[in-house]
Amino acid sequence: MQLTDEQRAFRADLRGYLQENVEPVVDELDRNGPMDRDTLMGFVTDLREFGIGFDPDIAPNFFGDVWKFMLTAEEISYVWPSLNVGLMMSFPSVFVRFAAPQTREAMVPKLETGECLASLAVTEPSGGSDTARPRTTATKDGDEFVINGQKIWVGNAHYADVVLVVAHDESTDAQDMFLVDRENASFETEELDKLGWKGVSNAKITFDSVRVPEGNRLSNIFSNAIMEGHEMHEIVPFPESVTQLFFEQKPLNATFSFMRTGMSFMAVGIMQAAMDEAVAYATDRETFEKPIAQHQLVQDKLYQMKAGLETSRGLARRAAELLESGDPDARLMSSLAKGYTAETSKQVTDDAIQVFGAEGLKPENRLERYYRDARVMTIPDGTTEIQKLIVGSELTGMSAYH
Ligand SMILES: Cc1cc2nc3c(=O)[nH]c(=O)nc-3n(C[C@H](O)[C@H](O)[C@H](O)COP(=O)(O)OP(=O)(O)OC[C@H]3O[C@@H](n4cnc5c(N)ncnc54)[C@H](O)[C@@H]3O)c2cc1C
Repeated sequence: MQLTDEQRAFRADLRGYLQENVEPVVDELDRNGPMDRDTLMGFVTDLREFGIGFDPDIAPNFFGDVWKFMLTAEEISYVWPSLNVGLMMSFPSVFVRFAAPQTREAMVPKLETGECLASLAVTEPSGGSDTARPRTTATKDGDEFVINGQKIWVGNAHYADVVLVVAHDESTDAQDMFLVDRENASFETEELDKLGWKGVSNAKITFDSVRVPEGNRLSNIFSNAIMEGHEMHEIVPFPESVTQLFFEQKPLNATFSFMRTGMSFMAVGIMQAAMDEAVAYATDRETFEKPIAQHQLVQDKLYQMKAGLETSRGLARRAAELLESGDPDARLMSSLAKGYTAETSKQVTDDAIQVFGAEGLKPENRLERYYRDARVMTIPDGTTEIQKLIVGSELTGMSAYH
């Protein structure tokens, strides 16, 4: 895979911004816990200048260029994984343009100025890995759906303007997704504390008879938009090849393939940060009257870290290539890459702490944050166990998890 000149320039500009504006404040912000809406919005607004975001002007060139999206995940995560999560979880906002009139009215102005924050609510307290049959229900009542149920660990939910909720549609006896906008509906959220990704808000949501217009059911959003004459790539501004996967696979599966590939790049960003710090420290720190880099066992650690980092980068890029070409193996490879890179990031950040010795345990040296952030990676967007089962099922055509 070869980056174009434009993609390289994009990466260089983004790196410059992150080093100047995020790197100096990241330690304090992460220590303070979940960003509030204004802080996240400040970064989201700045990043729009680089063509990163979900509004109609930007999304086609951001989502539409798989590499731009993936490089963004890697570069931001090199500095602050929490910011990457807060930003990326807003992708369901792209659907507000095609929702029911009241949601469009309330949310399109926010979307157009890049201020519509969103969440994807899939996981339920009763067992997140089993996404096939949600307990959250959507019951048809006239021209509305009434949503009841709970979701948990939902990124941005505390302050999101819209939440795309996976629910069991009782009118069709099938799973669907429903866009709930906060100006026309209310729901409770409860912030959750966690080991890593400290800077991003994750919350439990309770939907207690929340009413949404029928036009906010995702399948209706698609059909209404098509009836209005919109092309599929306008509705879901992925490259056409990825959009194709929405037809060939379940929309949730295609969405996960995209997100899991992004997670792999995120893991690579975290590993690269840990690697860079470990190499710098190893050449500087002296024991037995020489730099620790001259001890063979330290070089072995660096070798293992580099091997983990580069195999991960290779897998992440392979997954992105398959996604870009709309290859049906994109699902397999995104799960393989997500599972492998997440597990490897735990080991690489653990090794980096070991290279630092006791210094690696001090919060101000960041290694412990890399380690905590990497530890989280094996759980969201499907645990490593679930990724293994998806790969097994894609390889054999036999599912071990139904
Ligand atoms: C930081 C963070 C952010 C998140 N963000 C979001 C978000 O924005 N939106 C959202 O909807 N969700 C989000 N999640 C939820 C995440 O997707 C779930 O936590 C995850 O899918 C696992 O579900 P669970 O925690 O309920 O674990 P469980 O499903 O209870 O699993 C527990 C253990 O059992 C294993 N297991 C379960 N079933 C099987 C099986 N069939 N075979 C083998 N092993 C199995 C799992 O691998 C795991 O080790 C987030 C989670 C975290 C931690």
